[in-house]
Amino acid sequence: MLVTFNGLVVREDKSDDYGKYITVLSDTYGRVFMSAKGVSSVKNKNAAACRMFTFSEFVAYYRDGKYTLKSASPIGNYIKQNTSLEQLALASYIAEIADIFSRGESDTSVIMRNCINAIYIIYKNDRSRRIIKSVYELKMLCNAGYMPDVHSCAACGCDLNGDKGCYFCYVDGVLVCDKCNIDQSVKKIFISAGCLNVMRHIINSDDSKAYAIRLPENTLQELYNVCQEFLLAQLEKKPDTLDYYNTIEEDNVKF
Ligand SMILES: [Zn+2]
Repeated sequence: MLVTFNGLVVREDKSDDYGKYITVLSDTYGRVFMSAKGVSSVKNKNAAACRMFTFSEFVAYYRDGKYTLKSASPIGNYIKQNTSLEQLALASYIAEIADIFSRGESDTSVIMRNCINAIYIIYKNDRSRRIIKSVYELKMLCNAGYMPDVHSCAACGCDLNGDKGCYFCYVDGVLVCDKCNIDQSVKKIFISAGCLNVMRHIINSDDSKAYAIRLPENTLQELYNVCQEFLLAQLEKKPDTLDYYNTIEEDNVKF
């Protein structure tokens, strides 16, 4: 059967001499793992459309659960030639997270759009990469069903009105007020009122507003830690690209 879909290339693995296996987050067929013969050769007419971070239209043969590329045309590539190593490292991490969250999902269109949007913002280069990473992590977790209740204490039910800090128990994704006792074995981070309010903003805003935030350095550091720990607690293993990004990340905070 011949199928046509649009999708973003989020992973490429070498196959034989000039071939690749590409992983595509599609708008209609979920996560597509596809054999693409010959596309590692620059002379191949499908090469540009099968590169990492490219959004393309694909035509593929589908048989016995396997996809084989017939042809592809690029619609947009979100990483340009003058991209820095750090931008590329963050984009790789963003793509890996999208790939992880799309496994087993029949509909990857929202994940695909979130991923494209985050990579687009990285390339625009007018936001702190720490903010992009944190907002993206929290948004992806919310989409995947891990949205924390940021309005009330999970233990006593009191209103977390945003005047005071509280504990974020990041394995279960719940907030507990500073008056309640939490078992010592529960992993938690104390977050300030400022950090709680930023989390609320991210959770309650669409992408265009969620990324448009400016934070003092200490609040940004809190947000960075909370989002990363929350994400890692929900994954079976640490993403391969995370350590590399954290190693090369420079002083990239812009206000
Ligand atoms: Zn409480």
